[in-house]
Amino acid sequence: MTKPANKTPPAILREDYLPPDYRIETARLHFDLGESRTIVKSQLAVVCSHDHSEGLRPLVLQGQGLKLLALKVEGRSLREKDYEITDEALTIWPETDHFTLDIETACDPGGNTELSGLYRATGMFLTQCEAEGFRKITYYPDRPDVLARFSTTIAAEREKYPVLLSNGNLVAAGELPDGRHFATWHDPFPKPAYLFAMVAGRLARIEDKFTTMSGREVALHIYVQNHNREKCRHAMDSLKQAMKWDEETYGREYDLDLFMIVATDDFNMGAMENKGLNIFNSKYVLAKSDTATDKDFQNIMGIVAHEYFHNWSGDRVTCRDWFQLSLKEGLTVFRDQQFMEDMTSPGVQRISEVNILRTHQFIEDDGPMAHPVRPDSYMEINNFYTMTVYNKGAELIRMCRTILGPEGFRKGTDLYFLRHDGQAVTTDDFVQALEDATGTDLTQFRRWYCQAGTPEIQVTRSYDALAQTYALTIKQTCLPTPGQPVKEPLHIPIALGLLDKSGADMPLQLVGEERPVAGTRLLQLREAAETFLFIKVPQEPVPSILRGFSAPLKVALNLTDVERRFLMAHDSDAFNRWDAGQQLALKLILSLVRDYQEGRPMALESKFIEAFRQILSKPTADKAFQALILTMPSETYLADALEVIDPEAVHEARKFVRQTLAGTLQETFLTVYRQNQDSGPYRLDQEATGRRSLKNVCLAYLMELADGEGRDICLRQFDQAKNMTDVMAALTSIANHAGREREEALATFYEKWQDDSLVVDKWLALQAASSLPDTLERVKALTGHPAFTLRSPNKVRSLIGAFATNQVRFHNISGAGYAFLADYILALDSLNPQIAARLASSFTTWRRYDARRQSLMQSEFERVLQAPKLSRDVYEIVAKSLNYV
Ligand SMILES: [Zn+2]
Repeated sequence: MTKPANKTPPAILREDYLPPDYRIETARLHFDLGESRTIVKSQLAVVCSHDHSEGLRPLVLQGQGLKLLALKVEGRSLREKDYEITDEALTIWPETDHFTLDIETACDPGGNTELSGLYRATGMFLTQCEAEGFRKITYYPDRPDVLARFSTTIAAEREKYPVLLSNGNLVAAGELPDGRHFATWHDPFPKPAYLFAMVAGRLARIEDKFTTMSGREVALHIYVQNHNREKCRHAMDSLKQAMKWDEETYGREYDLDLFMIVATDDFNMGAMENKGLNIFNSKYVLAKSDTATDKDFQNIMGIVAHEYFHNWSGDRVTCRDWFQLSLKEGLTVFRDQQFMEDMTSPGVQRISEVNILRTHQFIEDDGPMAHPVRPDSYMEINNFYTMTVYNKGAELIRMCRTILGPEGFRKGTDLYFLRHDGQAVTTDDFVQALEDATGTDLTQFRRWYCQAGTPEIQVTRSYDALAQTYALTIKQTCLPTPGQPVKEPLHIPIALGLLDKSGADMPLQLVGEERPVAGTRLLQLREAAETFLFIKVPQEPVPSILRGFSAPLKVALNLTDVERRFLMAHDSDAFNRWDAGQQLALKLILSLVRDYQEGRPMALESKFIEAFRQILSKPTADKAFQALILTMPSETYLADALEVIDPEAVHEARKFVRQTLAGTLQETFLTVYRQNQDSGPYRLDQEATGRRSLKNVCLAYLMELADGEGRDICLRQFDQAKNMTDVMAALTSIANHAGREREEALATFYEKWQDDSLVVDKWLALQAASSLPDTLERVKALTGHPAFTLRSPNKVRSLIGAFATNQVRFHNISGAGYAFLADYILALDSLNPQIAARLASSFTTWRRYDARRQSLMQSEFERVLQAPKLSRDVYEIVAKSLNYV
């Protein structure tokens, strides 16, 4: 097949940015809500912002899927020849440099399945405007650098929509004829249209309050469907903790009298930081111990905090254009990570952050969609809400903090917020503020924002016993990525320690320095290769490189197994202690993969089992950390380490290790399992969640044995557990074992929870993630289950999304998994292109597989491309994967 050139949408380029020609001072909106026809009246105070000595430029307002009903300038109706209207925009030719523009349009919220713009779901009206949804509500200069003060009046049927919300403060409300009522909201802070929000529905309100550091009282409201009102306590507590933390850590105080959260089941993303009115996927609000797992509770805390933190890093200071998305997302992800590190175990939190980065972002960096943290071009901006922009972006901020130190970094962020309050700015402006506040030169550091790809450092070491010197030579490289064949050296902060024979950190003194530094120290690598010479080193140390994962890169360092086990036992840095174990397991499993591929019997060396046994049986205070260290690297992470991914061999080798450990250490697993049973009431503190993690890791190992005691224990835990963490741990293992018990457990669970949409999502996801051979058949059958609907992004993610990340079943050599996914990409594309594109991105690693799988995936891609009306979202992912664009 040849490249379908005629349907390639134009790429939008960062270098083409031009400031807006017109500002909007105020936007007065009036919504007359109707399910299939909503009338939106918009009155804009427009002011020219370009030099018009040679004439006024046209005013272009974006709009999609709207019906224009009336258009007036200064109260005078425009005739059809005075404006131009296309599928994408409305253009007028102003005669004065400031004027009032009245626009009346109609849209169809009931028919909006994309869940972008104004839509109706589960009996409510909702909006989602980031990135480009506002143009589906009314004609507007829909770009983040146009900031206006919004006033919004909403009119709707009182009976069906008693609650009417928008951004800011409520200024008026009252009755209207015909059983209708209205509310008017005013937001005093200028904001871009993507931060606009409006909600109408029958909702219960949970209230609390918060007193800010300057003594102002802020009302906190969470709105949910009435039957969920008991599930909001945790979200509310998290919000209050986040508000306090942001005052203490960044000096950021909340600025309105009211902060609202609305939860909905039907949402394309996790949550949205609209000014004063955050809208959340209910998955990240609702929790009770019998319906939500410990992980859910944690996610809620992190995401509630994340959206709240956006009030400053995103709303008060926003992005100039969408290429700057990481300005708000990288910074805010970093802030939520820091918050979670402070609220929970910092080591455990850091490991989970790095796990996400290494298993997902590194793969993105290595594929056809690889892009810098600040991209240079896109076809569809929705495709750039990526791990690179968010999570790698957060690592960039973390590196800045490491380089500047906590105090310097705080000075920098203070200056940034002060200097740019009320502005739409760039990542360069952020870095500039850090430089100006501290006098640090970050010129070279800026390359991190424009270079895609995961760098690697190669570390070689040499010890001179006579001179008592220790030399570390560090070389940095980065492979080419699409459009970037050559990479410049980066400025990399490398935190490291050197361990002496007792396992203690040596004092570290570089040649030329007057005195040593105790513990961890920072090296700043700027050249392609540099040698760091440590003096007064009395014995050959074991190096602990990249402590706390101080930079988002891969490390090549030829440590021996003995050295890795030594680090596992002694490293003062929790992250490197864990990582030493992961790297040992990685090396071991990869050698088993080769054995499996070449038909040799697999065997596990006794030293590995012994090291594992020691960690398992040694009582440790941080049980969550212990549970992580006992967890083998994921199949995705293992696969990424192979030249050619062999999903079956990876699955079998990993399973072999788990089975062998379970068989050899069965008694120890049982003992630890029993020791960590909790009979008391459910608690969410670190101790209790740590015990549950450790116990459930043991249970999962025990379930690897065909006829061990594990099976009975697991069924008992499933029957008797009082919290969802333990129930899900048991059911996940049960779902991986064929038989009557599995069918019964799944049926009982559904029977019990069928009315709780979020729990049903879990039920779908664990079946889609099962390693059993019949998983695809089961997933297909579940698409016809009454619990499943293509219209709900949560359901699609839980079933089809979870299946697409099931390495061994999705990538089955028959290609049936690929055909299934492609069918659903096509089916979803016309309903919800954003979600369809997310599914399509599961295919982007196709070149990493063997020739047969490559050709199977490629033909599915080409089938998708043949679709007569493919969205820009899916087209971009598929065409870039095939190198067509
Ligand atoms: Zn965000």
